[in-house]
Amino acid sequence: MAAVSALEIHALAKSYDGKPAVSGLDLTVRPGEFYALLGPNGAGKTTTLRMVTGLLKPDSGAISVWGVDALNDPIAAKRLIAWVPDEPMIYDKLTPLEYVAFVAGLWGVEGAEAEREAEALIDLVGLTAQKHQRCEGLSKGMRQKVALCGALVHAPKLIILDEPLTGLDASSSRLVKDVLKARVAAGATVIMTTHILEVAERMADRIGVIAGGRLMAEGTFDELRERAGHAGSTLEEVFLEIVAGSEVAA
Ligand code: ATP
Repeated sequence: MAAVSALEIHALAKSYDGKPAVSGLDLTVRPGEFYALLGPNGAGKTTTLRMVTGLLKPDSGAISVWGVDALNDPIAAKRLIAWVPDEPMIYDKLTPLEYVAFVAGLWGVEGAEAEREAEALIDLVGLTAQKHQRCEGLSKGMRQKVALCGALVHAPKLIILDEPLTGLDASSSRLVKDVLKARVAAGATVIMTTHILEVAERMADRIGVIAGGRLMAEGTFDELRERAGHAGSTLEEVFLEIVAGSEVAA
């Protein structure tokens, strides 16, 4: 029997005011995979991820998270998912430690254990010095890291991130990449959007390129490069070629 996919999207569609944002998208993310979703502005990446996380209702299609039908059983699917949006919401009046412990509590981990887990995550992302400061006084990048800690505290099996590295300085970006890699090594699956092609090239097991709400190409970096007929070319060149091809086809 084939192993169940971490995420399986079939014929997913969503329009805004009659204008298609996602048009019959098929996408599969395998267990234990680090999957990078690339695409030009307006390609439908965020819309897709918001549907997977249950924040947006598709017009049609199917989404399955570790075999759970996310449209029919959204609560069971959400238990398996961590979601880090591109503009995370955190509670400004709480400190990072209080916020992450609070989120742990929502997942049923409470008291000293919640605080221990929160503290470990906060230390891991380099926010030790800020852990008792109110979030409202933190920089954008620090707030992003707090949101990441909140998302990871329930040991999710599928970690979904929308542009997690924008706004992070080089060392913070390295820390977050290391945290994500460690989660993958421990058995989690990651799908993330990024405009930083070098991140996709270096970190992703497979890369999917979306344009016009459809999956235009998918594979390892080498496979994409081969498909574009450019051995030795950069991901940027391959990406631009795939996107240009999709515009011609549209
Ligand atoms: P980016 O890389 O710029 O973040 P994206 O690939 O995440 O882009 P989406 O945000 O999913 O793209 O947008 C896909 C399309 O849907 C775009 O044409 C966008 O204008 C449209 N869209 C997205 N959100 C809404 C909304 N709330 N109301 C109307 N149209 C929307």
